[in-house]
Amino acid sequence: MNQPLTRRGFARDVAYALGACAVAPGLARGAVEPAAAPPTPPQAGPPPRAVRLDSNENPYGPSVMALEAMSRSQKIAARYPDALEEELSVALAKFHGVQRDNILLGCGSGEILRMADMAFLRPDRTVVAAEPTFEAVLSYAKVTRAEAIKIPLTPDYRHDLSRMAAACGRRTGLVYVCNPNNPTGTIVSRDELEAFIARVPKTTTILVDEAYCHFVEDAAYASAFEWIGKAPNLIVVRTFSKIYGLAGMRLGYAAATKEAIEEMGRHRIWSNTNAAVLEAAIASLLDTGHVPRHRRAVTDGKRWLSAELEKDGRTVIPSEANFAMIDVGSDVEPVIAALRSRDVLPGRKFPSLPNWLRVTIGTPQEMRRFLAAFRAVVPARDIRAA
Ligand code: PMP
Repeated sequence: MNQPLTRRGFARDVAYALGACAVAPGLARGAVEPAAAPPTPPQAGPPPRAVRLDSNENPYGPSVMALEAMSRSQKIAARYPDALEEELSVALAKFHGVQRDNILLGCGSGEILRMADMAFLRPDRTVVAAEPTFEAVLSYAKVTRAEAIKIPLTPDYRHDLSRMAAACGRRTGLVYVCNPNNPTGTIVSRDELEAFIARVPKTTTILVDEAYCHFVEDAAYASAFEWIGKAPNLIVVRTFSKIYGLAGMRLGYAAATKEAIEEMGRHRIWSNTNAAVLEAAIASLLDTGHVPRHRRAVTDGKRWLSAELEKDGRTVIPSEANFAMIDVGSDVEPVIAALRSRDVLPGRKFPSLPNWLRVTIGTPQEMRRFLAAFRAVVPARDIRAA
């Protein structure tokens, strides 16, 4: 008789079940295989007590209204979520002041970035992006065999929009602007974006990723939504994974012209969302206090961390997002390893900024644990000597 799967051991049970499928053909032939090696246990996740500051999630979680909505969604779990997809798409269009057919939902904004690559890139096209930036667009672009053109950030770690625009030629299918930028947390201002949109050829699609826009405090910033309906070659990408605290549920969306939405939609998996996250997203939009409340908590944490690190003589890139980049003064890899061994999980290394550590802003308690571990691993600089 099959053993019931326990919730805690579920991943392990599934992994073993898959392992069993892999050996099944040999068994079917009647062969008795010697046990060459014990089965590899499934990779362990982060220890339960670990401080997770590696993926720029919201440590405070979703809105209470979103949590309640997800519980309610159990009642409709048996049904495909088409009607809810429509309801959320209409709600998002209203929220942003655009039309329903300007909106496309994705399984996280990652799926939107992939759909844009599939729709606008080919082997004879180029894709332009900053270096470093969030890697997904260039990573998915490899499948299309489009040529990647990487433009280094300016000395103050901002997008070099002038060089990026100059790199957009006849063959450029996409130019990616991550605003605020992951991993630096720097922004492109409203005026810089306006000039960039005016300068990039209309044959190039401009993909503006606003995953971290809700954390921005700088008044010079503006969402690219302002140009939806005006710039025909613009796509704006948003996610529910960051300030809305729904990274584990997977939902993102794009806004663009009807034509661009149709182009991208051809690469979409049918029913790429689910009832629980759709209900949660609708509830999140209704909870108007959520974004300012969570932005404030993150900003407070960011200010506290920067002030503490400054006392140690450390340089931190001023960030408009929910993470910060810290100069550790030498290769960051051993620092990452040492922090991990203390159950503090920082961001990955970005090879073009090899001495910098990216840290997500966690709760005050998590920030205190990070700082204690960081100070143990990277001793304070002697500011007097500097
Ligand atoms: N864009 C940026 C800038 C990101 O940092 C991330 C994830 N960290 C994503 C998109 C993808 O997020 P998701 O698929 O969860 O929406």
